[in-house]
Order: sequence, then C-alpha cells, then structure tokens
Amino acid sequence: MKRTLGPALKILAFKIPLAFALPALAVPALLFAGSMRAADAPVVVTSIKPIHSLVAAIMQGVGEPELIVDGAASPHTYSLKPSNARALQEAKVIFWTGPGLEAFLEKPLQALGSKASIAELDHAPGLVKLPFREGGAFEPHEDGDEHQGASAEGEDHDHAAGTGHDDDHDHGAFDTHLWLDPMNAKAMAAVITTTLVAADPANALTYQANAKALDDKLTALDKEIAATVAPVKDKPFIVFHDAYQYFEHRYGIRVAGSITVSPETIPGAERVSEIHRKVGELGATCVFAEPQFEPRLVNVVIEGTNARSGVLDPEAATLKAGPDLYFTLMRGIADSMKDCLSSA
Ligand SMILES: [Zn+2]
Repeated sequence: MKRTLGPALKILAFKIPLAFALPALAVPALLFAGSMRAADAPVVVTSIKPIHSLVAAIMQGVGEPELIVDGAASPHTYSLKPSNARALQEAKVIFWTGPGLEAFLEKPLQALGSKASIAELDHAPGLVKLPFREGGAFEPHEDGDEHQGASAEGEDHDHAAGTGHDDDHDHGAFDTHLWLDPMNAKAMAAVITTTLVAADPANALTYQANAKALDDKLTALDKEIAATVAPVKDKPFIVFHDAYQYFEHRYGIRVAGSITVSPETIPGAERVSEIHRKVGELGATCVFAEPQFEPRLVNVVIEGTNARSGVLDPEAATLKAGPDLYFTLMRGIADSMKDCLSSA
C-alpha cells in the first residue's frame, strides 16, 4: 500500500496548480460560510429597506437581516406589529436611522435596554446632515416645537460617534432621508461593519471583505449617477415629499419645491392650489409622484400647466428588499429624473 500511495499522492500534488491549492487551503472558512450560516448567523434586525440593503450586503455569506418596514409601508406612518416586537426581542444587533424618521421604534428600543447592540446610524461619523428646509415653495412645519430653530442651525449636526443613547436627540433638526447620498451610505456602512464585527467576531473577515466590495460599488454608483443627471441639472421640478435634499446636495440638483414636507399629513386644498400656482410660476418641467402617496394630487397640481409627471420612490416602497435594493433605488431616482426632465 505504502509504495503505491506515495507516488500517487506526489503525482496528484503536482497536478494541482499552486495558485489553486494555496487559496483553497487558506480560505475554506470564507468559501463555506454561506452553507453554514444557519447555525452561526446572529439575529440582526433593521428598520427600513435602504438600511436593510446595506446590512444585507455586508452580511452576505453569513446570514440575512430582518426588515421591519417591509413591503409598501412608509417609515413616516408605520406602527410596530407584534411580529416586529418579537424580532426585536430576539435580536442580537439592531440597526435604525434614529428617532427622526423611525419614531415608532424609539420606545420599543428603549424598552429593550441592553439586550441587543443598537446602532443608531444618524450618528455615523462623517455623515453629511442637512437641516430641514422650510418656506418658499416648501411647506412649513407645523407639528410643534420639535422642529423649531431647525433651519437656523446650519449644516453642522454631527453628533458624537458611536451607538450610545445618552444624547439629547434634537429630533427633526435635520432631514432624515440620509441614505439618498452614496457618501452617507458609505458612512453608515462603516458603522454597520464595526457593529457586526464587534457582535459577531467569528465572521469578521466576511463582514470586512463584503464591506470593502460594497464601498467600491458605492464609489462606482456615485460616478454613474453624477453622469446620468448632469444633462438635466438645471431644470426645475417639484416632488411629492421633501425627501431629496441629500441627492440634490450631492449632485448639484435643485428641487424647486415639494407638495408636502410630512407625508403623514395629506395636503389641504389650499396647499394644492398654491403648488399648482407655483408649478406655473417656476415653469417646473416635472412634478414627481411617489408610489405610496396619493398620486391623484400630482395630477391636480399639473392640470393646465406644461409640466409632466413622473414617479420617484425614495423609500423603496416598490422594490424587493435585499443587497441590490440600494443600487436599484438610487439608479431609479436618477433615471426617472433624467427621463422626465430631458423630454420636457
Ligand atoms: Zn420620507
């Protein structure tokens, strides 16, 4: 036996190219992580689809995060379901943007105490934060003292880094649609990665490799969007709800106004006729509806003007959750803007 096996093994060893044999020995944990995930994946719960998408990309090969605001639901009007409450109870890690957008999570997360590692992504270091805008063609905020002084505070809203809950939360002081700038997605992805690595060090290499790939993809996406919207940058348009500041800020676009700031409140007849007048005055080329909010209002607003209507989906109401959603979401906004504005 010994005589025949020895030479046979030698021949076999020669036939395996070195380049294949070495990585195969060095990275089996990475290669097989996907098939072993059931036992090892920590329970990770995320609030909204864009955040879920970033977390899902970083967890690929380890597990899939759970999503609270699923389907066509809007974070602006969401209320927690019993199944969501159960998921939070079981979670090892929870990602949310913060109480500004996801008010429905504030009390349930407080009630969890230190049971889970909770990362509030609006505290991510390096995040660009813009104040809510009011006045002009934008609807003023009328919901109490929460927003007072918001527009006077300027752009410098960076909180201390980290996931602590010892801050005083100037709720609503900044626009909460933070994900609509790929640079902000990068900043949030960095916090997602460090949080996952700390909670689940066994899968650290996978999280870090995925994070690097995601970061590269976000860089490419950013360049792609800039090129897509460049030809239509200067055309004025109106959006349904004021969700696009970060997109505008990043790509030098200027939304002329919004029909409503807070999608929780349907605009009254007076507001609709004011916007209708504004569309005419501004010579707005497009008025964009959103899938989850009253598209009829957009038709009323453009009636008798030269403006066209388009659809934007900033909160991904129509998109399937998963690692690619963030890219589909951002490309969709850029393409819709380009289509509607360039043919106007
Ligand atoms: Zn919104």
